[in-house]
Amino acid sequence: MTQPEPPGDTLAPEDGNAVGGPLGDVFVRDVTLAVVRCGTCGREGSFAESDVWQHGPGVVLRCHACAAVLLRLVVGPHRTCLDASGLATLTWPAGDGT
Ligand SMILES: [Zn+2]
Repeated sequence: MTQPEPPGDTLAPEDGNAVGGPLGDVFVRDVTLAVVRCGTCGREGSFAESDVWQHGPGVVLRCHACAAVLLRLVVGPHRTCLDASGLATLTWPAGDGT
């Protein structure tokens, strides 16, 4: 899959906490508490440290280190589509309260 280019310099990403609500409808656990490992560069870090772009028709989460797309979420009137193919792993710590 090709990686779409990040938006231009006039827009800035938000952090991963910005998608906690929309992804809360998909994941049982609080995704903002997870550790993500990028499938492109292997960086591990807090989900909340990822860069979130919400300026298009969906939400795009990018690796803070290499800018590769980690996941895409599009919520439509009849379906929700999650593409997490850019993630190597998504790990929650034990005892996160969920
Ligand atoms: Zn990366």
